[in-house]
Amino acid sequence: MTAPLSSWQQDLAAAFTKPTDLLHYLEIETAAFSLPAQQDFAMRVPRAYAACMQKGDLNDPLLKQVLPIYDELYSPAHYQYDPVGDLSALTKNCIIHKYHGRVLFITTGGCAINCRFCFRRNFPYADVRLDKQNIHTALEYLRCNISINEVILSGGDPLLLSDQNLADLITQFAQIPQLKRIRIHTRLPVVLPSRITPHLVEILNHATLPIVMVVHCNHANELSPQAMAACLRLKQKNISLFNQTVLLKDINDKSIVLQQLSEQLFASGVLPYYLHLLDKAKGVAHFDVPEQEAVNIHQQLQQLLPGYLVPKLVKEQAGKASKTLII
Ligand code: SF4
Repeated sequence: MTAPLSSWQQDLAAAFTKPTDLLHYLEIETAAFSLPAQQDFAMRVPRAYAACMQKGDLNDPLLKQVLPIYDELYSPAHYQYDPVGDLSALTKNCIIHKYHGRVLFITTGGCAINCRFCFRRNFPYADVRLDKQNIHTALEYLRCNISINEVILSGGDPLLLSDQNLADLITQFAQIPQLKRIRIHTRLPVVLPSRITPHLVEILNHATLPIVMVVHCNHANELSPQAMAACLRLKQKNISLFNQTVLLKDINDKSIVLQQLSEQLFASGVLPYYLHLLDKAKGVAHFDVPEQEAVNIHQQLQQLLPGYLVPKLVKEQAGKASKTLII
């Protein structure tokens, strides 16, 4: 007999997966999406996230992040399947080792939301399975590389793992002497806040290694009262919280929009960390903000906020030893 779904798993299962259903819910003309784009990269939108959208507005900044549209079908030649070199850095089946001292541990290919601008939309996740053998091999790799002191759970979204699987992984990492902390990259506190259950928070709170969580939030409208409460639950249990944002054309490419985002993050117990230029993956060119324009926006942002609320403007370049700091 299969175990009953917990409430966050039910919320996940109830996500919108058909553009017509989402547009109908938003009371928007149903022709406003592309079927070929949907077939290339399926839509997935949790209802909690859809509830933050403005009904009747096709230009809603949250809707534009998730709706498959025709623009995705046309890519300039320099937009590539693997723009940041993840595949060439895939050291073991689920480890990406690019930077000194830290590795990405790919936990799952799944996400609660499918962001149209994602650089991993073309990543062959089916080939990266987190089975017993792969976990064993990955842990061996960590044990043998004593320069690695931080493991970054990534994906997909690592918080889609069950509590048990997550707790087991954390316990196994804690037995590797040189590891100093575990970082979790996740969008779930923002897009599926019901995932931040008291039980999950306790698992993270009782970890013997410090937990750093980097959430991904692009617009203040994403921070619903439920999302803010989820972040604050983590913060109150000593989880260090940072945010990374992707700079997206016609979504958050105004200093006032980014100012509101930083203020709302701070009210949620989260510090702004990175503002990323778009990674040039196939199908995402329509989201791009040119670098000089990004610099101008960032300079305006510095005038609007105290320094600790201004994220660093960065871009990722395949083969580099770190993110490239622009400002
Ligand atoms: S990896 Fe992050 S950005 Fe990409 S689809 Fe998943 S949640 Fe969105």
